Amino acid sequence: MSGLSIPIHPITHNPTEAWEQIKPTQRVIKLNVKTPTTPQNENMLRFVCMSDTHCLTSHLQFEIPDGDVFVHAGDFTRCGSAIEIEEFNSWIGSLPHKHKVVIAGNHELSFDPKFTCGPAARQQHKNAHTGGGLINEIPDLGIERAKLKAAVEAENTVNLITNATYLQDEPLTICGIKLYGTPWQPEFCNWAFNLPRGKQCLDKWDAIPAETDVLITHTPPVGHGDLCCTGVRAGCVELLSTVQSRVKPKYHVFGHIHEGYGVTSDGKIIFINASTCNINYVPVNPPIVFDVPIPPGFSK
Ligand SMILES: [Zn+2]
Repeated sequence: MSGLSIPIHPITHNPTEAWEQIKPTQRVIKLNVKTPTTPQNENMLRFVCMSDTHCLTSHLQFEIPDGDVFVHAGDFTRCGSAIEIEEFNSWIGSLPHKHKVVIAGNHELSFDPKFTCGPAARQQHKNAHTGGGLINEIPDLGIERAKLKAAVEAENTVNLITNATYLQDEPLTICGIKLYGTPWQPEFCNWAFNLPRGKQCLDKWDAIPAETDVLITHTPPVGHGDLCCTGVRAGCVELLSTVQSRVKPKYHVFGHIHEGYGVTSDGKIIFINASTCNINYVPVNPPIVFDVPIPPGFSK
């Protein structure tokens, strides 16, 4: 991490209004979502990005393009049950890409120690909340509560991801290109990897190394791919400040807000909302593909 400290926006808790304040100093260029038609090049690493597939990979309404690195930016399940993860793992195992990288999203409940941190901690939750634990207190988002409870009973579900590299606040270097993946998002129904806006989110973004080329988060930053159909912006203000002022990745890949699918740029960074499912949970949006030059001294 560099010494630059990112300030917390005074109205970070209202990202819609905060964006109105900072917008005059920002550029948002909408880019075409177009899969490269050029053949793959020895000097470039081709990334193929998806997110928010929500157990619907058997219903995809498109082909998955070839490439070197397949990225899934979280929400591959509906509630993180073992069977959902196993299905996803075998699907991702069937893809031809040499490298596969996955992060969790708010739907992967069983990946978040807040819900699953072992019998002792669960007992504590029960005592503290005089009910069936934290899982009883979150909105069910249309999923049977018994399923949610069963999902978080399974321990160490992250070990079920054997056909991809799972990143949780971790870097990964592929052919000299530096990636970093993190699942956290500003509070959203209190599901997995939720944090209050402001300092607690920023603490997670402060851990992103400054030399990251491809940043993978589940949440969008404010202003790019974060506009909900209600007119509310869900992105994180400090994540935008972090990527623009400190980390400066070439690409920032995320999902979470299904209706924000698409590619934008501020003139320097390419922002990719790779949500596969639309707002109605129909997997209609094709993967977003980009090529990154391989640095000198490295090869595929
Ligand atoms: Zn989703």
